Amino acid sequence: MIPPGETIGILGGGQLGRMIALAAAQLGYRCHVYAPEADAIAADVCAAFTQGAYDDEAALAQFAASCAVVTYEFENVDAAPLAVIAPHAPLHPPARALEVAQDRAREKRFVESLGGRPAPWATVDSAADLAAAITRIGTPGILKTRRDGYDGKGQWRISDAAALPDLPAVPLIYEGFVEFSGEFSVILARGADGATAFWDSPHNEHSGGILARSTVPAPPLIEDHVSQARVLAGKVADALDYVGVLTLEFFATAQGPMFNEMAPRVHNSGHWTIEGALTSQFENHIRAICGLPLGATARAAKGAVMENLIGDAVHDWAAILSDPANHLHLYGKAAARPGRKMGHVTRLVL
Ligand code: AMP
Repeated sequence: MIPPGETIGILGGGQLGRMIALAAAQLGYRCHVYAPEADAIAADVCAAFTQGAYDDEAALAQFAASCAVVTYEFENVDAAPLAVIAPHAPLHPPARALEVAQDRAREKRFVESLGGRPAPWATVDSAADLAAAITRIGTPGILKTRRDGYDGKGQWRISDAAALPDLPAVPLIYEGFVEFSGEFSVILARGADGATAFWDSPHNEHSGGILARSTVPAPPLIEDHVSQARVLAGKVADALDYVGVLTLEFFATAQGPMFNEMAPRVHNSGHWTIEGALTSQFENHIRAICGLPLGATARAAKGAVMENLIGDAVHDWAAILSDPANHLHLYGKAAARPGRKMGHVTRLVL
């Protein structure tokens, strides 16, 4: 058990790290952020900040030596250099969760081995591979980079086998396009003792590949898939000996829940839990990685709706605050670029 007062290391300097640190501070912990960018918004609310590259083993080791436990808010970090952390502090969630989740092909194979069902897919490393994948899977489909994709980046919709894009020189996968009635996520916290708690699954609506809105409770069409999806998420967590918050995203289809992807971390679709659940995803992540008992995950209201403030939408902050029922969260990012998550707003249904 890591008692309050100790220092928690966070790899990654974005809004997820910032909200993890705020929850940690509430429980009396100090946080030390490690990130490559000079203006890490998580560091604004932390006791210490190291600016360093994710493959700088000397800097990572020095950082880990100042921490009682290390976690991450960002999965596109190469796992190999993180081996230097282990002699100094435990890494939660485990490095294996990172390795699995940061490669779309490995992630799908892993989930299939546990009985999960992703969209039909194939690895693509050449134009010939893509042609073969389209012949087998058909169009429409989506070509995705195997690594480093997020918020719809590194994805190309393919509707016509005769009009293929120039392939980037990185490993890719091709996926069949899924006809879904909705998207949802399963968000769980698992303690070191294996105790697992699930939050209500939100209905997630995307716009341009980016999460726009998460709503709980989800409509019945989605709710019907949740128990089956939870079984898979629990198996994933157990197989990885997972400690912390884990998210799996699903499509609700006529054949049942179809696995989309997983994130070994707190997740944008769980931001509603800050006000909408008895314990937030951020607090339970801290409780799990510090070996404290998990807090209750039940809804604290009849419902909750979380909307992201993307790009220029952040400039509406004054209008949002003029409604006293809105819970506004701004991430402190300097520039409101298109597609950039600048904040979110949550409304409870009481
Ligand atoms: P991803 O980053 O892979 O989660 O993709 C972002 C969003 O694009 C998803 O949440 C879906 O809305 C959409 N999407 C991704 N893959 C597929 C697919 N195979 N079929 C239909 N929609 C998809």
